[in-house]
Amino acid sequence: MKCDTCGQETEEVKRVVIHKGYDKTRVRAMYNCQQCYEAKEKTKVYNLVAAAEPAETVSK
Ligand SMILES: [Zn+2]
Repeated sequence: MKCDTCGQETEEVKRVVIHKGYDKTRVRAMYNCQQCYEAKEKTKVYNLVAAAEPAETVSK
């Protein structure tokens, strides 16, 4: 299987479904390797916590 996020071949992929209501225009399933799956899970939590903040903050 191939990870949709990093394109890396991996033995195990996890299917990540973006929930309806979370992003109406992009409800789709993606296959991710373990690493990307965990990264996406963190991103979801991050988005919930920081929804009102800028998308990205650059710190020096
Ligand atoms: Zn990946």
